[in-house]
Amino acid sequence: MGAVTLVVEDLVKTFHGPAGTVHAVDGVSFRLEPGETLGLVGESGCGKSTTARMLVRLVRPTSGRVLLDGTDVTRARGAELARLRRRMQMVFQDPSSSLDPRRTVAQTLGEVLAVHRLGRGADDRRSRVGELLEMVGLGASARHRYPHQLSGGQRQRVGIARALAVEPEVLVLDEPVSALDVSVRAEVMNLLVRLRRELGLSYVFISHDLGMVRHLSDRVAVMYLGRIAELGPWRPVSDEPRHPYTRALRDAVPVPDPVVEAEREVSALRGEVPDAVHPPAGCPFHPRCPHAAERCGSDVPALRTTVEAHLAACHYSEQLYGDDVP
Ligand code: SF4
Repeated sequence: MGAVTLVVEDLVKTFHGPAGTVHAVDGVSFRLEPGETLGLVGESGCGKSTTARMLVRLVRPTSGRVLLDGTDVTRARGAELARLRRRMQMVFQDPSSSLDPRRTVAQTLGEVLAVHRLGRGADDRRSRVGELLEMVGLGASARHRYPHQLSGGQRQRVGIARALAVEPEVLVLDEPVSALDVSVRAEVMNLLVRLRRELGLSYVFISHDLGMVRHLSDRVAVMYLGRIAELGPWRPVSDEPRHPYTRALRDAVPVPDPVVEAEREVSALRGEVPDAVHPPAGCPFHPRCPHAAERCGSDVPALRTTVEAHLAACHYSEQLYGDDVP
């Protein structure tokens, strides 16, 4: 496992609703190398969940491609699509709504194994269910429980076990700890870190919280109104952002030291994310950007390299954040 490369090329998704055409995702491209974790960050409505759903073909893109080791997931059908889906699994935010309330944990996991014809007979599948439970830190006693008899953290562990049942190479994790109590978030995050190491998995980790993704991710992509605003290794993106939006997101993460917190200068995010039916012309961030100039209202900034492997979609990235800016 873990030798897979995922290439996303110019993904676009528009929905037609009563209010007009929603530009949910508007030209997203990135690569995920074997064993890598890419964090996909942004406020709600930025298109990160739609992007996640297009990766695993729960949503069909309007245009663009998703290539898994060179095979186009967006155009695959039948047996080929089933094979590709096995290799890329999704873990959802709310395990309560993605688990069948009438099935025990063993039935849920056993069914996935049966559908994918994994294991030789019922005994084999029973022992595989035991292995999966152990892998996600649930004891054998969880086997006969129904979802309502489990805590939120335990339910998410079942959600992770269900994704792992088909031995995927890539996990797409859509806000996997956001619905959980703060006290159990760290446990589930640690579990994800351990599984990635032990199984050689690659992750696309989606979150609205830059603080959450930065320590788990090798690289981070920050999305705004359906586009990538900034992309690069996690440390420079979170410590020295090259886009005003990322800077505002970073500043929204509180500093644990109250003295530092009281004294630091923050660039607070002004206003709401604009409506994706009528996205602003030019730079999509310009109505909220403290540095917006005239050009920003008409010219769309390209996502381009600022410093090594660190890309930003801002006309004034260099002027604002030259090399000596902390
Ligand atoms: Fe702000 Fe202009 Fe840069 Fe957009 S291009 S982030 S509006 S300075």
